[in-house]
Amino acid sequence: MKPIVVVGGGVAGLAACWWLRARRIPHLMIHAAAAPGGRFGTIRSADWTADPWTPFVLKSDRTIFAIAREFGLDTELATIQDAILTMSDSGPQRSAPGDYRQARVCLRNGMDTLFAEAAKELEIHGNVTVDGVRWSDGAFVLRDAATGHSVRHPVSRRTIGAGGVVLAVDGPSALRIARNSALLEPAVDQLAAIEYAPEVVALFKVPRMDPGFYALERHASPDLKWIGFEERKVPSRVGTEWSLMVVHAGETMSAELLDAEEGAVLERLFDAARKRVPDLPLGWNEAKLVRSGRSRARNPCGDLQDDRMTNPAGAPVALAGDFIEGDRAEDAARSGARAAALVVQRTKTGGVA
Ligand SMILES: Cc1cc2nc3c(=O)[nH]c(=O)nc-3n(C[C@H](O)[C@H](O)[C@H](O)COP(=O)(O)OP(=O)(O)OC[C@H]3O[C@@H](n4cnc5c(N)ncnc54)[C@H](O)[C@@H]3O)c2cc1C
Repeated sequence: MKPIVVVGGGVAGLAACWWLRARRIPHLMIHAAAAPGGRFGTIRSADWTADPWTPFVLKSDRTIFAIAREFGLDTELATIQDAILTMSDSGPQRSAPGDYRQARVCLRNGMDTLFAEAAKELEIHGNVTVDGVRWSDGAFVLRDAATGHSVRHPVSRRTIGAGGVVLAVDGPSALRIARNSALLEPAVDQLAAIEYAPEVVALFKVPRMDPGFYALERHASPDLKWIGFEERKVPSRVGTEWSLMVVHAGETMSAELLDAEEGAVLERLFDAARKRVPDLPLGWNEAKLVRSGRSRARNPCGDLQDDRMTNPAGAPVALAGDFIEGDRAEDAARSGARAAALVVQRTKTGGVA
């Protein structure tokens, strides 16, 4: 059986692999960056770790928790809900016990550990940007943007032929791939109609005593120190579109130390972030978060008709990503599992395995 190839190493792609793995269906992941993770990206320095892209998930995010359990990360999950302090007139206040289902959870050593663990158990090929897909002799062939040739297995150098494809890339990449792929032509209009907001990550500095600012707690939990800025709580002049950042810091990082060094820490984070997102705004005050994937699509590839001109033999391909179901990691993960299921179902009915 030819493997199902999952293109895209974000949480949507990971969920697709997780779903296929649980059913022992051969699969492999191909993604553009050196390491998987996508917007589950962690920035590390000698004494702190930050998740500026996806700082937390919710306890109700069942797919993500199932994936974490699958890859043995149950013990790495830490709740940040109880650690929140709110500044009020009478000083720092601990939040009222939150709704358990809404409690915010992060991975103690950075969200990308989810991918580091999964990478030990999955076949993953990085540094391959796919820019086209075609169907040839009963198998998918993916085109590598760097070489213009078909994607090859890094060891055997043979073309990787897929029995089905889950395209779990971000929306603009999916559109680019669809435009280059006759097979995906029917999806182009739907993908082009989605408004893909540019992804700009904001790291920001808020005066410590501003009302409603979530302050750093010195002993947030036995195993986690953090600072967080909650969008609902930032001063109104900043606007509601600002992001949130969580810093996991070592035992020695105290509130005072952070107070003194906060600016430098944030500057370093900002520099590191700029290396990943070159068009970040120049300063804190211009920095603005626009989440990508605000708009949604149905799964246009999942709806492809068995049209012999464009989609011979009902070639099984489905799209996943946070622009399909919603703009949170759980939405992306759920769409990944669904896309894998759809591809497998079409593989069986299309008889292409
Ligand atoms: C600033 C910010 C804060 C956020 N905060 C939260 C939060 O707190 N909680 C939450 O639940 N969600 C949050 N989100 C949303 C969450 O990050 C996303 O929903 C989720 O990570 C999207 O996953 P994905 O797999 O769809 O896409 P991505 O993570 O973008 O993964 C796409 C993958 O595809 C690869 N790729 C792209 N093009 C190609 C190509 N042509 N060929 C091969 N590979 C390709 C990329 O390398 C990448 O690995 C936040 C997002 C942002 C931007």
